Amino acid sequence: MDRKYCDIRKQKDLSIPLRHCLNRGHNFVSYSKGGNAGLNTRRSENEKWSGFIITMSAKFPGPEEEDYKSVVLHEYFHVYQHSHIHSKKRSERERLNQKNPWWGEDGAEYMTQLLYSRQKGARSGYLKEKMKRKLRSLKDIPYGKRGRIAYDLGTWFIAFIINKTSEEAYRVKFLRTSTQKDLKDLLPGISELHQRISSMNSTIPFLS
Ligand SMILES: [Zn+2]
Repeated sequence: MDRKYCDIRKQKDLSIPLRHCLNRGHNFVSYSKGGNAGLNTRRSENEKWSGFIITMSAKFPGPEEEDYKSVVLHEYFHVYQHSHIHSKKRSERERLNQKNPWWGEDGAEYMTQLLYSRQKGARSGYLKEKMKRKLRSLKDIPYGKRGRIAYDLGTWFIAFIINKTSEEAYRVKFLRTSTQKDLKDLLPGISELHQRISSMNSTIPFLS
């Protein structure tokens, strides 16, 4: 199936080397075995077109799970984030999007949960429940690789920023200016803020 897919891709775009297509990081096999969802950003100097491709696999979460809906929103928020970066230069895009995962994941995850909680039919207390669950995982942050933190601590970080400013400030102004500057110039005290949030407890007023 993967081979067939790559053949069709090659037919549609001759500039794509077949070898690259077959050796890509995620493919039908990895998604069917390990689940997951992801965003493929296509915008570079070598490509004639730009686009964002969201892949949703069939497990972790699966379509029958509630989380499946919020994961779609999460991936789509990444599209929104990326749409603020106009450059086609790879280095420029990487510089503005930040390599550390929390940069994009914070915002995507908090905005996802916030927007989802406002959808018709979302149960009351949804946001509170989700945010409490994320807060619990902050109590014991282990050393070593734990990318999950980007989602959990990061979500709280964005909640904190929005609480201190406004949703509009984050959604419009923050994204607009942050994609034009280096992160270190924009928020010099960022790691300090992360530490402060991790020491907060569940009595944070904006959740009550
Ligand atoms: Zn993400």
